[in-house]
Amino acid sequence: MTSLQAALDAGADAVYLGLDTLNMRRMATRNFTRETLPEASSRCRACGTRLYLTLNTLLYEGELAAAEAVLQFAKPHVDAVIVADWGAIALCQRLGVPFHVSTQMSCANSEAARFLKRQGADRVVLARECTLDEVAAIAATAGIEVETFVHGAVCVAVSGRCLLSHEAYGCSSNRGECRQPCRREFLIREVREGEDADAAFRVTPNTVLSARDLCSLPFVDRLVAAGIAAFKIEGRARNPEYVKTVVSAYRAAIDAVRDGTFTAERAAHWCEACARVYHREFGCGLYHGRPGEDQFTDTDENQATARKLYVGVVLNYYAKAGMVQIQVQDQPIAPGDTLSIHGPTSGVVDLTVTALRRDRETCERAERGTWVTVACPQRVRVNDKVFVVRASGVVPGVEG
Ligand code: SF4
Repeated sequence: MTSLQAALDAGADAVYLGLDTLNMRRMATRNFTRETLPEASSRCRACGTRLYLTLNTLLYEGELAAAEAVLQFAKPHVDAVIVADWGAIALCQRLGVPFHVSTQMSCANSEAARFLKRQGADRVVLARECTLDEVAAIAATAGIEVETFVHGAVCVAVSGRCLLSHEAYGCSSNRGECRQPCRREFLIREVREGEDADAAFRVTPNTVLSARDLCSLPFVDRLVAAGIAAFKIEGRARNPEYVKTVVSAYRAAIDAVRDGTFTAERAAHWCEACARVYHREFGCGLYHGRPGEDQFTDTDENQATARKLYVGVVLNYYAKAGMVQIQVQDQPIAPGDTLSIHGPTSGVVDLTVTALRRDRETCERAERGTWVTVACPQRVRVNDKVFVVRASGVVPGVEG
């Protein structure tokens, strides 16, 4: 709910989420539930934001009843369901549920898009393997809205057709459980017996499997010109500050394209902002054609240039004075620090500490075990979590 609120505050005009079943982020402990979906829905409707439910795994025979029950439950709460299975499409047709076709269905040409439109789809999320020229051609001729991924992790398997995680850990990528073994380094050793046997190969991620994260901010203007109806930011298992930062950057970039103020310098600035939160190295995905070696990364480590450290919780918020009282439970804070306050209703509220006060006294530093008040014009709530944001020392590497 904190991430949802962050997305709404950052200017997303649509949000997608999964319930705890039949979606491609099954390991995400942050999925919504039947209890929380109505609240999510009313928040979105209150600010005119569309809400889409991901029901995008393949459906096996024994799951049809569960899928139908999810669709019936979700129908009044969502604007559309994102599906990846012909059975799910049939269920949507029968139940009258608007649906989008997931990237998992690998729609990569205008014939396929037109066919899906005839089946009742309102939109297709194109295969990630499409180049920008192909996207533009499909958008121009298919007669259906197209959506593409613009930011986030990229997978070398064609739309998730990969058995690595399932073979290695019994956790299937196609059921939303991928453990991402492609991001690691492996030793392949020959097991044949004989004198010339026992060969060994080191398989490193940067040459074979581990794609850079997609960041399309440098060419958002070309994406808009391609006629894409919706820009999809990957981030269902990400932290709230990731959601806020990345959505804000794309909101600003798209608005700048619309009002004619988009420039390479501004794009570089937005890239830098996105580099502050979780990412691997950035690349341009497959928009510009088949990826070369420079679109792979040799580390699966987080490249964020900033990190957040836990400070404590909000004890009180004084709306008239615009002050927040914080119980410091871990990291000390001082004037000049950047705080990030997270809560399910507050979303993500960032502020710079101008002064610290306790009992009308000004203090230089608030240590663990003490409380302190800080100016905070935006409302936060009791028990919201407070973090301090510090530089992590990683130099951003942004490529366009
Ligand atoms: S293991 Fe890697 S390549 Fe395979 S589905 Fe997962 S992220 Fe994609």
